[in-house]
Amino acid sequence: MREQSVQQGTLWQAVLGEIELSISRGNFMTWFKNTSLVSHNDEQIVIGVPNIFIKQQLERKYTDLIAATLQKNGVEAKEISYKIVTVAKRAEADNQPILVTPTSPRSEMTAPVANRSSATLSHSYRQGLNERYTFDNFIVGSGNELAFAACQSIAVEPGTKYNPLFLYGGVGIGKTHLIQAVGNAIIGNNSNARVLYISSEQFVQELVDAIRFKKTADFASFYRSTDVLIVDDVQFIAGKEKMQEEFFHTFNALHQANKQIILTSDKPPKDIPTLEERLRSRFAWGMSIDMQIPDFETRCAIVQTKAQTHDVELPNDVVDYLANNIQTNIRELEGALNQLLAFCEMRSLEPNLQIATSLLGISKTRPKHLSAKQIIERTARHFQIPIEDILGPKRDKDIVVPRQVAMYMLRSELHLSFPKIARELGRKDHTTAIHSVEKIEKESRTDADIRTAISEIKERLYA
Ligand code: ADP
Ligand code: MG
Repeated sequence: MREQSVQQGTLWQAVLGEIELSISRGNFMTWFKNTSLVSHNDEQIVIGVPNIFIKQQLERKYTDLIAATLQKNGVEAKEISYKIVTVAKRAEADNQPILVTPTSPRSEMTAPVANRSSATLSHSYRQGLNERYTFDNFIVGSGNELAFAACQSIAVEPGTKYNPLFLYGGVGIGKTHLIQAVGNAIIGNNSNARVLYISSEQFVQELVDAIRFKKTADFASFYRSTDVLIVDDVQFIAGKEKMQEEFFHTFNALHQANKQIILTSDKPPKDIPTLEERLRSRFAWGMSIDMQIPDFETRCAIVQTKAQTHDVELPNDVVDYLANNIQTNIRELEGALNQLLAFCEMRSLEPNLQIATSLLGISKTRPKHLSAKQIIERTARHFQIPIEDILGPKRDKDIVVPRQVAMYMLRSELHLSFPKIARELGRKDHTTAIHSVEKIEKESRTDADIRTAISEIKERLYA
């Protein structure tokens, strides 16, 4: 029984790993973070979800994606159903690490702050922290050691040294892991510390809701009464005037009270377009650290350590193979490892180089030589329009859709940031890129034409 649940845990992790790569971070965190695999057989897959709201959303929007991803991992079921599982049961069910709090920040926000008892209040200030991310399971090496050291020193004495701490760097290199580890360590040292972790996308959404439900005062006091405010991917508030305004005041209130602020972004403050000058200068008050992808040795250590947490000892050649072939993104590296482990567990095989090579070969994880230009060209050719049209100003539908698909592909295949995507397509405003990627993401779930187009373009690109 226990063995089966461990297997389910690994399988589900592999599935989540892939889903995480195919949808936006915000969507993933909101809909998938607290899910688990309750049971599965040939007939039926039961997925554990924290509440009815998430159940409905998954049913409506994500069942196809879940089915396809399960299938990729060797599990085919006639029916997928969702079951509401409490936190305690979930821990039992899949032996998975769980979020400290099961509710979404939004539902917290709609409850009036004044009505909370002190117990629920301290509980709510652990919002968003995932116990999985700790200093202990973060592998330190070239590329991340400075960030690691700064985070550790903040955990010991929050609010004193580096305020704000601003970590920046590419996708999947451990920013979120580190800043969550700070939050977890602070709460570990002092269980009354009010630590709040939020993505800037959530911050934006909550402020929008607060305005709509006329609760902006609650919103402001909620954020301004934390001891440690951690805002992930802060680049998303750039260009949003009202958000920047609100964030500016929150920042000032906290900073003046010597409360710790930790921020991440995909690039340094000076390179975030449309970031207000006053925020830009404040972000630079403390310490900014550039995080890089860890070197080969560190990547090997990461693979080995992650495998060990699944009680698997990987042969060295497999470790080398993974670390060598996935050089830009630890999340992807972890995804490949999970896929390998799940594949082997389901079939009771020992992982070896041959299996690893064929699995990674099949899934054709992003070859390094693929460029943005190739993707755009291939997309234009697929839709039989000149590349100048995609890059140009025309707004006709038969040009707008290919353009949106090209943006989507740049995001899904190269993980480019939205401003970079906009630039590649000759656009100034990166919100167009966000909108386009989301639109195609959504449509690809329901619209077979779009889906076919995407897979045909991919096939050509990787052929
Ligand atoms: P980012 O926020 O920079 O996009 P994440 O923090 O989400 O990246 O990291 C992606 C995944 O890689 C996470 O599962 C994280 O635990 C893992 N990871 C990244 N760097 C390390 C590391 N040095 N040691 C262990 N795991 C890591
Ligand atoms: Mg992150």
